[in-house]
Amino acid sequence: MASRTRFAIVGGGMLGMTLAHRLARQGHEVSLFEAAPHLGGLASAWQLGDVVWDRHYHVTLLSDSNLRSLLRELGLESDLRWVTTKTGFYTDGHLYSMSNLMEFLGFPPLGMVDKLRLAATILHASRLRRWQDLEDIPVGDWLTRLSGARTFAKIWLPLLRAKLGENYRETSAAFIWAVIARMYAARRTGLKKEMFGYMPGGYARILERFEQVLRDGGVRIEPSQPVETLQATRHGVDITFRSGLRERFDRVVITTPAPIAAGVCPQLSDEETARLRGIRYQGIVCASLLLRRPLGPYYVTNITDSWVPFTAVIEMSALVDRRHFGGNALVYLPKYLPADDPAFAVPDEQIETGFVHALERMYPAFSREDVLSFKISRARYVLPISTLGYSKRLPPIATSIPGVFMVNSAHIVNGTLNVNETVQLANATVPQLLAPLGPSSRSVLQV
Ligand SMILES: Cc1cc2nc3c(=O)[nH]c(=O)nc-3n(C[C@H](O)[C@H](O)[C@H](O)COP(=O)(O)OP(=O)(O)OC[C@H]3O[C@@H](n4cnc5c(N)ncnc54)[C@H](O)[C@@H]3O)c2cc1C
Repeated sequence: MASRTRFAIVGGGMLGMTLAHRLARQGHEVSLFEAAPHLGGLASAWQLGDVVWDRHYHVTLLSDSNLRSLLRELGLESDLRWVTTKTGFYTDGHLYSMSNLMEFLGFPPLGMVDKLRLAATILHASRLRRWQDLEDIPVGDWLTRLSGARTFAKIWLPLLRAKLGENYRETSAAFIWAVIARMYAARRTGLKKEMFGYMPGGYARILERFEQVLRDGGVRIEPSQPVETLQATRHGVDITFRSGLRERFDRVVITTPAPIAAGVCPQLSDEETARLRGIRYQGIVCASLLLRRPLGPYYVTNITDSWVPFTAVIEMSALVDRRHFGGNALVYLPKYLPADDPAFAVPDEQIETGFVHALERMYPAFSREDVLSFKISRARYVLPISTLGYSKRLPPIATSIPGVFMVNSAHIVNGTLNVNETVQLANATVPQLLAPLGPSSRSVLQV
């Protein structure tokens, strides 16, 4: 496309911001519309006591080459701090370290044969390249075959349930393959140490710099401007905002989660709408706790005991220097839930009581007096579930509506949800957004 095109990007998360950046760099006129008062979406920051940090925990891996190269463009990559972290496992009421090969071999809940099969499963998955073959195999069948029924019941099933709930039954083996591939890439060799990275100042710092770079590059940024609906005409795509304003663009790119995208586009075909609405999501209730002192030495503690009301313990201050938290400790307690789960309506106080009580049971040295601040984030559309045959049912990025494109984390087909994959998706999508629309595509429109 030789001429300068007027683009609207709907959704100011990392995906929308990266697309806006790439299109503006290529000389196009770009407006970025975000419903919230600030950019960042799931990666945005908030205030917890005196601390400003991510509302959802974020870590960067050494292997996150797309994100690191974006950070380099923003002049931030050299500021990343790299730390060797430890991993914990809470199982049968005990907390175990699982941070190196020796600890893995000594892990009491599994016998030696089970451990060897578990290690072989991880090695096998990390070497597999043809993820497409896994899309038609239920994850439970695949893991049971490779690891054995005991290890599946003791380790894999609780971990799958923690992330996917009962949806694990319809999830394909490609899901766990992608998780293992990412975590394996983070380790320097085999089951040895992990190197995780963080940005001093957290995502607040990345987002602030990114927003400035976008503005300097000519991107018009409109926060607090939710898009209500859009309609393509023979002359362009008209956006109507919830504020009542209307504006016309040559092309519109919607980066919101799939069900929201379906809701703002009444001109989609029934099949496209059904495909978008057919993508199942796990959401999250994620508590942030500022504590007087750390819980333990682990960045991630996986939990297999089903009585614990959260999915894992993420101790950010085991990774990030506690100076960033005023000398205190920052802990996240995530609970994954299906997007339509009634538990999203449970009041904050009730969640706090249950979560703090569970921490007291898990960590004898912890007391509720240690909690300086407790805050809860809820997000219904976080993780698109890799159901069986997933990639074959995905709607294409170029919709049947001329000039309207839809791309979101559901289009990450052979990876897990993370910012590196999000940036990679944006980079890969740009050529499609710039391709010619086809000679007669707009002339078929009645209005
Ligand atoms: C608990 C948790 C932990 C995570 N941990 C990590 C991690 O350790 N490392 C990592 O790399 N990644 C992590 N991620 C993933 C990372 O946050 C996502 O990959 C990334 O933020 C997705 O960006 P996005 O732009 O695709 O989506 P979103 O951030 O969801 O952006 C979509 C945007 O669209 C906006 N929007 C919705 N409706 C409208 C409308 N009608 N009009 C205008 N705007 C609208 C929303 O407000 C939102 O800002 C984590 C995420 C969560 C939730």
